[in-house]
This record gives sequence, C-alpha cells and structure tokens, in this order.
Amino acid sequence: MTAAFVALTLLLSPTCSTAKASSAITQFRKDDSINTTSQNPYDTQRELYNKLSIVTDVEWYWVAAVDQYERSMSKARPKARPLLGETVGVFIDKERWAGMLNPDDEDNSPLSIQWFNGIGKDGDGNGVAERNSDFDLLYSLIRHVSGQGTSDEQFPIGLWDYYQNSRSVQRIEQFAAIYKHYGKLNLYDHAFPLPIGNNYSYKDTWGDKRGWGGRRIHEGTDIFAGHGTPVRSTCYGIIEIMGWNRFGGWRIGIRDLNNHYHYYAHLSGFDKTIKVGDIVEPGQVVGWVGSSGYGNPGTSGKFPPHLHYGVYSDRGLIEWAFDPYPMLRRWEQAEWRSRRSK
Ligand SMILES: [Zn+2]
Repeated sequence: MTAAFVALTLLLSPTCSTAKASSAITQFRKDDSINTTSQNPYDTQRELYNKLSIVTDVEWYWVAAVDQYERSMSKARPKARPLLGETVGVFIDKERWAGMLNPDDEDNSPLSIQWFNGIGKDGDGNGVAERNSDFDLLYSLIRHVSGQGTSDEQFPIGLWDYYQNSRSVQRIEQFAAIYKHYGKLNLYDHAFPLPIGNNYSYKDTWGDKRGWGGRRIHEGTDIFAGHGTPVRSTCYGIIEIMGWNRFGGWRIGIRDLNNHYHYYAHLSGFDKTIKVGDIVEPGQVVGWVGSSGYGNPGTSGKFPPHLHYGVYSDRGLIEWAFDPYPMLRRWEQAEWRSRRSK
C-alpha cells in the first residue's frame, strides 16, 4: 500500500519532477515512520525489537513504544533532536550518553562511561558504546529505563524517572497498548471519518474566525452531514478522551502512533461499546454526527449538524494543530480508488 501510494503520487504529478518525487517520499516517511529504504522495514524493525527484548527481558511492545515515542519527538523537533541511528528514533544527548562530568563527551568506552554515570552501553557486543548505533542506542535506553523493573507495572516507573514528564509516560503506555493489541508494527492505514459518498460536504476552513468562544481561530475541518451519520476513526489508535466539552460538545480524542491526536467534535452520541483506553482502527464507528456544543452539557442545535475534525501533533510539552484538510482529501480519494478496484 505504501509503495503504491508513492508510485501513484508520481503518476498523478503533472510535472513528474525529481523534486516532486523526493517530497512524496519524504511525506510517506513522515507518515509511516520509516527511515530505511529496505524492502520490509517493519520486519527489520520488528527483528531489532525482538532481539532487544531477549537481551533486556523487556516485552517487545515496550521496546517498540519507546522507540516510536522517541521518533515522534525527533520528528517534531528535528533541530534539537537530530537522528543518530539508521532506523531507530532514539535521541540521547552527549552528556547523558557519556556522563555529565565526563571530560570526553565523545567517549565510547563502556567502562569509562559507566564510571561517569553515563547511560551509553555496548549492546551489540563489539566492545564500544556507539551513540550512532541503532542497537546500542535503543539497548542503552531500554536498559536504563528497566532499571526499576521490566514488568508492565514496573516499566512505567522507570519511564517516569527518565522523562520526568507524565505526558511522555502516558504516550509510551498508549503506544505499547496499541502494539500489544495488534501484535504488529504496521498500523498506519487511514480512513475518511465519514462513510464516503455524496451525503456530506467539506472545504478547507483552516484558520477561519469562529462565531463563538472569543478570538480563537478555526483549528480543523468541518464536514457537514446529516444528523446521525456515522463518524469513524481515521486511524489505528487509542481513545484518550471521551465526553462533554463546552466548545466541542460530545467529543472524542484518539491518539495514533505518529503521536497525532485526532479530535472529533459536536457528535450526537458515542458508540456505546467503546470507552477511554480502548483500541480503535480505521473505519471503526465511534459516534454519530450531531450539533452538540457551545454551552452546558446537552446543549445542541446552535449550528447545523457537522463533524468538526482536528489533528494535533504532540511536541513534548505542547501540541500544535495542523490543517487536516489535505489528509482528508487523500484518505477520501484512497477509499474511492480501493472501492473502484474491488
Ligand atoms: Zn469546526
């Protein structure tokens, strides 16, 4: 599917220039979290996680979740967190790796790093603790975090000690839950939030002023559809928030493995079988279009029924909204294509 997407982008590109090609591939990597051009990147990654799980006694889904969280942080802040390895997303700065008081911040001797309380370790057994080795990077981080214990209960305690931030711990727990549920890494398919057809309309309303709630700008896309139209998850993810919000009405927030928060607002109701912490997949119905919001719980009908869909990118301590409109168009077109090919 991924290769097909890149190929298709090239075919559809009117200029078909090399620049266009490379930007398509960059986009593909950004979405699908792959830094390698090998044939089966997920297999390569999974092999690494399995090996690390064996040598650290930490379940593979924790290893995968830590790596994916680190990757999402590096993508959000590429200047502060340059990529160190080939395929892993882990960033560890020189001081942390070699030890704060180590006079040699490029130190790669496991013994002297240990002496200076650095966290760098030699995971692959070649005698040096290399800060640019995939195995050594992820091994060092997992070994450090699992110092508090390797069980599902103990591992998050080590995460807290390392990140000193409850958001980071929550993200990694969420990612681990998704990986554990599916038992695989390739979880980046998407769906359009409404069943595709002719019964809805939307346009790019990014940044429009809104009528209610002060000077906030519009952070999302409004998809107008009839009351009761099913609303579906656009991604593989985990339900982070569900309930009433003064602006959004009945709203649901779903976190995916790119560390994007998908926000669905103004629903008329939720699917009764789902709750916070549940895993959802692309196309799964989570609720129904409505016109709830702009007041106390239960307020409805202050505007025409529509789905407000927003996407936020987690950058560590803050989240940035970005325009979901181009992605919506892409997902909608992909669904039309796959329907036609059936
Ligand atoms: Zn809206």
